[in-house]
Amino acid sequence: MLRSLNPLLLGLGFSPLHHCKLRGLSNLPKIVSFSVPRGSPSSPRLLAVHCGSGGRFRAFRMSSGGLESSPLEADGATLAMPAVHKPRIRFCQSCGGATKQVIPNGEEKLRSVCSVCGRIHYENPKMVVGCLVEHDNKILLCKRKIEPSYGLWTLPAGYMEIGESAVEGAMRETLEEACAEVEVISPFAQLDIPLIGQTYIIFRAKLRKPHFSPGPESLECALFAPEDIPFDSIAFSSITVALKMYNEDIKDGNVTFHYCTINKRPGASPSDPNGFDVDNQMHL
Ligand SMILES: [Zn+2]
Repeated sequence: MLRSLNPLLLGLGFSPLHHCKLRGLSNLPKIVSFSVPRGSPSSPRLLAVHCGSGGRFRAFRMSSGGLESSPLEADGATLAMPAVHKPRIRFCQSCGGATKQVIPNGEEKLRSVCSVCGRIHYENPKMVVGCLVEHDNKILLCKRKIEPSYGLWTLPAGYMEIGESAVEGAMRETLEEACAEVEVISPFAQLDIPLIGQTYIIFRAKLRKPHFSPGPESLECALFAPEDIPFDSIAFSSITVALKMYNEDIKDGNVTFHYCTINKRPGASPSDPNGFDVDNQMHL
């Protein structure tokens, strides 16, 4: 289930572009260095990655409108200061005391700190896991029966639970939302959404049995050929991005693993459905 996605992430536009052609796991790009220019929180978000063995560090930025900056070849490319996260834990999880927002000694970020016992509450990103289920050259989508995005289509996905692996969580969500027992084939995409502290991991999977039906959180489940995916009715930007990546792979005849980040575009209104960029896109 996925109940609390930020509505700002709906409807992201997307233009696929592959930045680093990689030939094996040993050549996975490494984040090598970046600096944070103080006082420039709205500057473009760039990330230095090491592409292969040539020793060249390249920084890229993608947007829904296309490539917005030329590749840089430099050490220490700049990375925009992440949006300041306001701690949201109001009461201590140890003693129940009220928390206050302070920067603890030796740290640089605001934290919720208990005013009674002093416990520092750290907030970390959440994992969303799901499956891109292939069957008869089509993929399985679920129409949401819950908010947010009631009535829109999504891949079966939801928050990973303590005690399960990402694969187990993705299979569980697929069973819950589409009553489909699946076998995972491979990881397909990792999509980071720093703004709201979420990381999606989507797996390719296939049906164990040719059966699926809507679970309690789905109005309908259906198979779509890649060219028939209803991109004007997709629930979340992350799902739009994943599906467009998949469609491009199908056209190329090679489904592979992808990574990217989804970021609010500097200056964009929070309600702008196209106000987001797909950055740091890489694939194997
Ligand atoms: Zn406390």
